[in-house]
Order: sequence, then C-alpha cells, then structure tokens
Amino acid sequence: MDVSHLKIGVNVDIQRTDGRIHSAVISGTNNEAKSVTVEWFERGETKGKEIEADAIFSLNPHLMDKAAGSRDTHSSQNNDADDDEDTYTNGSISPSDQAVPPAGRGRGGKKSNRVTQNNVQETPRFSNRAPTSASSRVKAGSARSRQSYAARPPATQQNGQADSNEVKKPGIPVPSDRRKSNCVKEVERIEQRRKDRRKEHAAIREQQEVEYDTTDPNWQFSAMIKEYRAHLEYRPLTSSDPIVNHQICVCVRVRPLNRKELQKKEVNVTTVPNKENVIVHEPKTKVDLTKYLENQNFRFDYAFDENASNEMVYRYTAKPLVDCIFEGGMATCFAYGQTGSGKTHTMGGEFSGGRGQQECAKGIYCLAARDVFKLLHTKFKKLDLIVGSSFFEIYSGKVFDLLNKKQKLRVLEDHKSQVQVVGLKEETISSADDVLRLVAHGNNVRTSGVTSANQHSSRSHAVFQIILRKKNTNKLYGKFSLIDLAGNERGQDTKSSDRQTRMEGAEINKSLLALKECIRALGRKAGAYLPFRASKLTQVLRDSFIGDNSRTCMISMVSPGMGCCEHTLNTLRYADRVKELGPGGRVEGKPAEIELSDNYNNLGAMSPQNSALALLRTQNQDEVSEDLMTFHEKVNHMQELEEEIIDDQKSLIENTQKWMTEQKKLFKQTDEVDYDVEAYAKQLDALLMKKITELTSLREKVSNFRKDIQEEETLSKNMKMNKKK
Ligand code: ADP
Ligand code: MG
Repeated sequence: MDVSHLKIGVNVDIQRTDGRIHSAVISGTNNEAKSVTVEWFERGETKGKEIEADAIFSLNPHLMDKAAGSRDTHSSQNNDADDDEDTYTNGSISPSDQAVPPAGRGRGGKKSNRVTQNNVQETPRFSNRAPTSASSRVKAGSARSRQSYAARPPATQQNGQADSNEVKKPGIPVPSDRRKSNCVKEVERIEQRRKDRRKEHAAIREQQEVEYDTTDPNWQFSAMIKEYRAHLEYRPLTSSDPIVNHQICVCVRVRPLNRKELQKKEVNVTTVPNKENVIVHEPKTKVDLTKYLENQNFRFDYAFDENASNEMVYRYTAKPLVDCIFEGGMATCFAYGQTGSGKTHTMGGEFSGGRGQQECAKGIYCLAARDVFKLLHTKFKKLDLIVGSSFFEIYSGKVFDLLNKKQKLRVLEDHKSQVQVVGLKEETISSADDVLRLVAHGNNVRTSGVTSANQHSSRSHAVFQIILRKKNTNKLYGKFSLIDLAGNERGQDTKSSDRQTRMEGAEINKSLLALKECIRALGRKAGAYLPFRASKLTQVLRDSFIGDNSRTCMISMVSPGMGCCEHTLNTLRYADRVKELGPGGRVEGKPAEIELSDNYNNLGAMSPQNSALALLRTQNQDEVSEDLMTFHEKVNHMQELEEEIIDDQKSLIENTQKWMTEQKKLFKQTDEVDYDVEAYAKQLDALLMKKITELTSLREKVSNFRKDIQEEETLSKNMKMNKKK
C-alpha cells in the first residue's frame, strides 16, 4: 500500500503491542518497505517505532485518502505508557535486536574478565503478567523476531473491536461513500490477515503446550534459551582437535543434568557451542516482572560439554602433563568447582550402579598412572626411574594421610623454604592396578566417618601424587599432583554460626585465593611473588609452582542447572582470573605485581602466613574485604597457637612421666634414716618449680588461645565478606 502521500508531522493513532492506542506523529515514510516511522513523547523522552502501512491505515482509515495525508486529525496522548517491547528510544535500537549473537562473538574485550562483560547480552523478554495469552508465547526454534518475544497480553481490540473504536473516534472525518467502499475492502483484507495471524498464534500455542509445561514458572526461560541455542553454530571439541601444550591450561567441563534435576525440571542454563566457549544464560526478572536472559560468554583453553567423557577430558588436560614429569618437571592438575559439579567424578572416577561404587579406572588419577607406566617402560626406559604414590587430604588446614589410617601429619618448612609433609607415606607402585587399589583404598578412608561422603569431601582438598625417583639414589625426579579441591562454595562458610564450619570455610577461602595467585605467578616472569604460605594447600604444593619446568592445568567443573547459576558464574569468573585469555591470548602480569618480592621480611613484623595473606589482598582488592583479611589473620594466629599448644601439651605429658620418676626417686630417699633433709627440700623445690614454670607457660598460651577464640567469634559476626556487598 502506497505511503508516499503521507506527510511528516501528521498526527496518527497507533496501537502498541499491549493493545493501547495512542497518538503519534509521522516522522518518516518508506514506500519500498510499505511502512512509516512514527514518534511520540512519553515519560520525558521521544520514542519511536516503525509500523506497517496496513496497521497505520487500519487505525487511521482516513489517511488512505491522499488528500487527507496532510490533515492533522486529533491528538490524544496516553501518558501512562511504559517502555515497550518493539519501540526504540531516542533513536537507539531495542535490546531485542541484539539478543542473539553468533557463536564466539564478543572476543573484542581487552581482558577476558572484561570480555565477559563485553559479552553480556540481554535476551528479552517475557512478562509474567499474562502467561496464558497467545502473544506471550514464543515459537521455539523459530527465526528470531520481535513478535516472538511479545510479552504483554493481546489487546481486546484484536478481537475485532478495534475497528469500531476507530470509527467512533472523535475528529475523524467521515469519508465519502466511494472512498468508504475502498476503505472497507482494505479493512476486510486487514481483518483477514489478522485472523490468519491469530490462527498461526493458536498453532504456536498448541505446539508450545506440547513442548513446554506452561505451568512451570520457568518455562519462558527454557523457551528463550532454546531459541538462543537455535541460532548458534555448534562445533564441539572432538578427539581429532589438536592437543596444545600450555604451561597453564584452564578449561571448563559442564556435566549433564542428573536424574534428580531432570525430575525437578531444572532449566539447563549453560551452553557449550564450541571447543573453547561456554555461555551462561543467566535468568533475570525486571521489576515489572518481565523475564529476560543475560547471556555471558567465557573463553578458556578447552570447553567440554555434557557429552565429553572422562577420557576426552583427560586427553586435553592431564595427559599432556605426563611428559613433563619425565622431563624432570612438576605438574599439577586441579578439579575446581562447586560441590556436586563433578570434581570427584572426573578425578577419582565415575560413580556407577545404584550403590555409588566408583569406577576408579576411568578417573584422571588412574588414567594418568596408566600413561606414566606406559612411558616408563617405553620412551623413558633409560631414565631408570621408580614410581611412588601418596594420597592425602587437607582439611581445615591440617594434613591427613589417606594411605596411613588418616594419620595427622605436620607440615614443616626449613630455612630454605623447602616444605615437607613429615611422615607422609609414599607407596612404591609398579603398575596402574596398584594405583587403582590405592585410590580405592584412599577414597574409602576419605569418605568414612559420621558425615556423608559429599559433606565431608566438599570441605577437604584431596591430593593424589605420582612421584618419580631415580632408582639408584631415590632422589626426586618429577612429580604429578592431582587435586580434587574442596567445593568452592564452602569459602562462604566463613560466615557460618558454627566455629568448626567457619574454620573450614576460612581455610578453603584462603587456599583458593592463594592457589589462584600461585598459578598466576607461575605464568609470569621469574621473581613473581608466590604467596604459598597463605594456605596449607599452596604450602604443600610449593615445589610445583616454582622451577622452569612446572606446568599446571585447572579443570573448572560446572553444574548446568538454573539453581546453580550464581555458583557457576563464580566458578567461571575465578577460572577466568587464573588465566586471563584475552582476545589475542594471554594477558601478561601487571608489572606492579611482578615487582613484588618473595621475601616476606619486607612486611615488618607480620608472620609469614599473614604477610602472604596481605599480599593476596593487594591482588584481590575487589574480592577480599578488610574484614575478611582481619578474620583470616585471626584464624591464622589461632591455628599457629593451636599447633603450639598441642605440641606443648604433648611434651608436657612426656615430661610429666620423667618428672614423676624423679619425684618417686626423691620420695624414696625419705625412707632412709639419715637422709639429707636440706638436699631433699632443695631438690623438691627445684622439681616443683620446673613443673610450675612448664604449667604456667602452657596456661598462658591457653589463656591467649581462649581470648583468640572469643575474638574470632566476634569478628566473624561483624564481618563483611567483600567490598561489593
Ligand atoms: P563433586 O565432587 O564436585 O562434589 P561429584 O563428582 O561427586 O561432584 O558429582 C556429583 C554427581 O554428579 C555424582 O553423582 C556424579 O556421578 C554426577 N556426575 C558428575 N559429573 C558427571 C558427568 N560428567 N557425567 C555424568 N554424571 C556426572
Ligand atoms: Mg567430590
């Protein structure tokens, strides 16, 4: 229909998607597209919209008369309008126009954490207001269109009343009979199209009712995610993709929704479109209850989707590190993520069968051991190496030997900063089967106890090590540490009302922060500060973070469910910080950080642990509040004092036995007829003094310790976790 006769500046009635009709001014015409653009003033700003000629003429039939094109009709203004779905404001494009990015889009950011920001895209938008209305439904998988996201209920005018409204409007001139008949024909044609559209909508609705459970409050999110995915090009990682040797490799693995989640109809909010990207579709609801998605894209070295097997994950993560230990290097592989995201499944092996038996052979521990033996007997036979293995757990800052009845072990550091786990059992192994046996045994020990398996394991780091030694000298040659980390959400436990939980949380929070910094330091030039003393985990792994031939891999595990979205984003942000993959590769460390020295003495009178902590803070200003740091310092002090007191009590018990023997001997003297009373009194006094000194010193420490305990409690109650909150 010709629109060329319509004049700019003419007042017209327009209908909004929610059915409201109000006045607007023609601001442009496009005869080719058979459309006009209109503008109106609403809530202090000019808004605009492009409307089909049909729609304009159906509401303003008088405009079909060419002569009327310049006639100003009437001007009713509706001011209670809100921001609408297919309108633009001050010439900008509606967010719905930008909603679907191609895969891999948004690599233009400077740093990956910024890339993340750059990659935030909104997918609008559903309103809760009328979940049953036809126009609020989306045809899943259909080509993206604004209409498919219409959020509001259809106008009652759509039921045919619109036309009568138009005729009744005051100020509309009544056209002549001839013109009217043309008008009527046109209106009938429009009416027919409207009916067809309604039919189409009904069909969509029917289809959606089959496809989605529209009684589910989250069905619109599912629909939006589905539509988003329909626009993506999928190129998942395959075993023919090249294996790249990284010094630091950071990847993500998304597990499938489990049976429980499927039963609960959890929405899967993650998408892995290709071998290095993961997209999180964060469900959001506006104050007006409109639902939309914030799609955040992250890039890593590899991204494993729910179909990836443990073998596949192993092939690109830990396997490339096996060679490194045969070259005399140190390798580490971490499974990081929320509890239940698949860390133990990946490292220790799949849980199969109803009784939760773990198939250790398919875990990375055993897959790595198998390759170690393969290489030991072939490519590196000449090196004459023997293989040992240790398996221990770090729980609340304490080390327990999983191969030796969970014995508690001390971690000591000598003057050269060499760290030793004193008395750690290292079993010599001669085949992958030996490893299988050790892992199964260690896992049993690890999970036994009063608390359920996951409750306990979520609070501890499990470290499995494969150690290569020279056969003749038994000298350490290379070491592979595979670590199933504590659930990262436990770091928040520092706020718990239960002290034990708080202490565990503090250690987890500290160790994950320190771990991130140690890995980052590994990737920087020599001299980078290594805050390994901040936690037991980083302390025992110190030798793996230094040296030219140290390599590491972090597998970030992610649960795909909507309920885990916040944790998933936290996990991905952390991983992103470990290795900031900018658009063009690694972003090198900031010079200010590189200049920091490993020498903690330059921090005055602080303990080594606290100075490591203080430096952690300077590197994590956004994440770590002053309060949290003070709390960590207090906890560190408590832990140091606790160890000291326990040591002191141990020697007190031993000394007391010796002391008792001396006492008895002295006492026996008094049976003699002519014993020396003066000498006796002197000796007894000395004995008592010795005991009193020992007891007083210990008592003072205990009294300080008790004070610390009280202070820790007060601090934890008043603590703000991070700056932003
Ligand atoms: P975490 O150690 O991180 O707490 P688990 O490894 O115990 O988590 O995994 C939690 C549950 O999810 C287990 O029942 C496990 O079998 C299952 N699971 C984890 N990852 C996968 C996967 N990739 N495929 C199938 N099931 C998985
Ligand atoms: Mg686990």
